[in-house]
Amino acid sequence: RGGQPAGIATAPPAARPLLPHHCNPLDAPEPRCLPSFRAKSMLSEGPLPTPLTIAIDGPVASGKNTVGLRLAQRLGCSLLDTGAMYRALTWAALQAGADFDDNAALAELAERTTMTVEPATAEQPNGALLLDGEDVTDRLRLPEVERNVSRLSSVPEVRRLMVEEQRRIGAAGGVVMIGRDIGTVVLPDCPEIGRAHV
Ligand code: C5P
Repeated sequence: RGGQPAGIATAPPAARPLLPHHCNPLDAPEPRCLPSFRAKSMLSEGPLPTPLTIAIDGPVASGKNTVGLRLAQRLGCSLLDTGAMYRALTWAALQAGADFDDNAALAELAERTTMTVEPATAEQPNGALLLDGEDVTDRLRLPEVERNVSRLSSVPEVRRLMVEEQRRIGAAGGVVMIGRDIGTVVLPDCPEIGRAHV
């Protein structure tokens, strides 16, 4: 945690393709209401706008994670599943015996918890998530996490901290970011470059 989000210059969307042709999601078949792709570049000029930050948003069960993982593998960049961040913090709150009705306690927990996202590997296709150094990846889909994550993610201060961290990661580039609010809230100035059928 820490640091301000860096300013990012956005490449003119129509000036040139934002992704190499062979992995452009626009090549996907007939678009439907599925994940949408946005990309922003750290460079405002130059032949290739790299490193890219690619935002994938879309409704629940729209295939964001599948598409994001494949895209990250093909581009050789890292993957950030923002849902996993909210899930990990929910696990931390459960471990701490936090009261899920106490916004201040949840915000305080978010403030003092260190979250590390490790890049995806063959064994951990969505990457690993460490909470204060402990790998909690296999806890993220537990029923008690499932039951409480939306309550935790509705706390404004928790969201503010998460979004700040996600913007910081996005500003560094070379990452595919997945989440329902990535294109609208976290990286709203990403030009939309395509919608894909999965
Ligand atoms: O995407 P996933 O189902 O793993 O997300 C778990 C929960 O985290 C969602 O139900 C939602 O409450 C929250 N979430 C969120 N904003 C995101 C990603 C997830 O509020 N960008």
